[in-house]
Amino acid sequence: MPESPIAEPSPNVVARGHCQCGGVRFEVRGPLRPVLYCHCTMCRRLSGHFAAATACAPEHLHLLSAQTLRWYQSSEIARRGFCGTCGAQLFWEPAHGGHISIWAGTLDTPTGLKAAEHIYVAEMGDYYAITDGLPQWPQGSPPDHTADC
Ligand SMILES: [Zn+2]
Ligand SMILES: [Zn+2]
Repeated sequence: MPESPIAEPSPNVVARGHCQCGGVRFEVRGPLRPVLYCHCTMCRRLSGHFAAATACAPEHLHLLSAQTLRWYQSSEIARRGFCGTCGAQLFWEPAHGGHISIWAGTLDTPTGLKAAEHIYVAEMGDYYAITDGLPQWPQGSPPDHTADC
């Protein structure tokens, strides 16, 4: 295989991911948060079920391809990044800019990640049960219970 410049591994890459069609490709060059399961109505309606989100510092998310990346302003506090071609959901970006969430299913495996807790279980669907023993919170995650995916 001929060497190409982009095959050169970047330093500090801890994960790579992409949407189904490959129009959006990214890598993460810093620590990833454990996975949160978000059961809020918006995540469920947009994803078709509940969401599984890791997160990183915004400066650690590097888009390698973003030609099909679209943003949906889902509320006053956040927008959601998805692929305009295949429809995959990828990112949740809060206006406060403290982190950017990444839908865990878009990452290449093995991710090395573990799930930590369930949030917004007060809004969970009525057709499933949570049986993994992880902590469950009615709204967001402690200590401040703010709306974080
Ligand atoms: Zn796509
Ligand atoms: Zn949510």
